[in-house]
Amino acid sequence: ARSDGLEGQVSGARVIAQALKTQDVNYMFGIVGIPVTEIALAAQEVGIRYIGMRNEQAACYAASAVGYLTGRPGVCLVVSGPGLIHGLGGMANANMNCWPLIVIGGSSERSQETMGAFQEFPQVEACRLYSKFSARPSSIEAIPSIIEKAVRSSIYGRPGACYVDIPADFVNLQVNVNSIKYVECCMPPPVSMAETSAVRMAASVIRNAKQPLVIIGKGAAYAHAEESIRKLVEQCKLPFLPTPMGKGVIRDNHPNCVAAARSRALQFADVIVLLGARLNWILHFGLPPRYQPDVKFIQVDICAEELGNNVRPAVTLLGDINAVTKQLLEQFDKTPWQYPPESEWWKVLREKMKSNEALSKELASKKSLPMNYYTVFYHVQEQLPRDCFVVSEGANTMDIGRTVLQNYLPRHRLDAGTFGTMGVGLGFAIAAAIVAKDRNPGKRVICVEGDSAFGFSGMEVETICRYNLPIVLLVVNNNGIYQGFDTDSWKEMLKFGDATTVAPPMSLLPHSHYEHVMTAFGGKGYFVQTPEELQKSLRQSLADTTNPSLINIMIEPQATRKAQQREEILKKKHGNGD
Ligand code: ADP
Ligand code: MG
Repeated sequence: ARSDGLEGQVSGARVIAQALKTQDVNYMFGIVGIPVTEIALAAQEVGIRYIGMRNEQAACYAASAVGYLTGRPGVCLVVSGPGLIHGLGGMANANMNCWPLIVIGGSSERSQETMGAFQEFPQVEACRLYSKFSARPSSIEAIPSIIEKAVRSSIYGRPGACYVDIPADFVNLQVNVNSIKYVECCMPPPVSMAETSAVRMAASVIRNAKQPLVIIGKGAAYAHAEESIRKLVEQCKLPFLPTPMGKGVIRDNHPNCVAAARSRALQFADVIVLLGARLNWILHFGLPPRYQPDVKFIQVDICAEELGNNVRPAVTLLGDINAVTKQLLEQFDKTPWQYPPESEWWKVLREKMKSNEALSKELASKKSLPMNYYTVFYHVQEQLPRDCFVVSEGANTMDIGRTVLQNYLPRHRLDAGTFGTMGVGLGFAIAAAIVAKDRNPGKRVICVEGDSAFGFSGMEVETICRYNLPIVLLVVNNNGIYQGFDTDSWKEMLKFGDATTVAPPMSLLPHSHYEHVMTAFGGKGYFVQTPEELQKSLRQSLADTTNPSLINIMIEPQATRKAQQREEILKKKHGNGD
């Protein structure tokens, strides 16, 4: 019996934690403070892992990555007002990526509403633009059903972010245990299939394709459709192209992968099977001049509103990617068909791939110092464990890294995503390492950051060290955003005035020793300037399975991509993280 007179009572905090656990939510990231500290404590008591972060934005990125990696949303726990507002960046990113996420925000006391309470803010309204569902339970008794609804909404249909607002006075309020009814765990998302006639039509369009292409997006990765998609690609001998996070659904070194001829493949395909990827900026909207004006899209998506965006598709298949791909396979089982491997299309694609690969190899073999991006990534690729998670962000760091660093497994690449968000890397890496710890102990996380991108959430290195996550952080350092200056030019420039008046806005402090951020918290730090130093430090970091490390890799401050793409890069101003 309890001595505090609370026998038979339960706190609001405990109800929240128990309701989450009942919905099979197992990870919570956040920063505690008034009024949510007790929620974090209660979460640990019911067996939810709690990971304390240093900024709500990074916490929210981490929680959203758990949702993508496990199919079950992670929670981001934030305090009222500014805490919630910092988290909005993570909510927006999750929602844009179509990843499930639950944000739980403390809010000011109901009795002080509209009086200028501590950190008072219209939180439920604020979250509407960044979520699928945003609500405040009307009482403690209503918490379990609101949490069930939030979890269910986050994973049903097109996945996304959901917000639950918890007024401060709910947290410590005690109610009778018997007044709380926990809602059973919601059922797994229902699986929907496409209309049979549409499936037949799609199969016939594929059969008549002269230059077919399959595009695999992160929706396919999220849907766990890897088996059926690989079967379709192999059985029909179709060329395929992954989007950035679609990488690994089928391994990058599969003979049918035409990633190295991406532009060519998009430009000349006459039939494109689009599996869980939107025709947004990443895929150049599906429009000329990057595509044939009469290209036939076969669009597969779980979200009906997505079908027909930017193009008029030849066939739309509304349903779960795995189920729909199996429907397509049935058609090709009934009447077997394969795309001729000796076709002109394959020849064109193979030739382009060969010349593109030769070009990057040539750049990688350059012996000049400081190193260029390609040299760095080729040395990294040589040592990467095949089953590792690759997290990456930055402009050139991410774009060039993506072409060299290979993924062999689905859901093992995390990057700036649909929203092009910088600052996601450390949160994603922490999430991947925590999930790996539970599910695949020993699996490594490699986080490849531009120096600018690293800065957005750099203090999460303390989080990495506190939880002893053996993440290998690579900072590809060109002293700036897109480009920077070497030490001498920087000093020279400062002779002409104060940095605020003469330094280009892209520049960051040259020769910064980011590795000290890691050593400050007890991890291993390396400063490398040559391929040999890079190889050695990476070997040591990968051999060390207990300590995190940060390798600060100095590259040519003016290095960019392959020469023929320079113009395009200069014109293209999206992303800002190198
Ligand atoms: P990428 O960035 O790889 O191009 P997007 O995020 O643009 O991918 O697109 C992913 C698409 O996948 C979204 O339109 C989403 O609705 C869809 N999707 C998510 N899960 C499923 C699923 N289980 N079945 C079908 N489509 C899905
Ligand atoms: Mg940079």
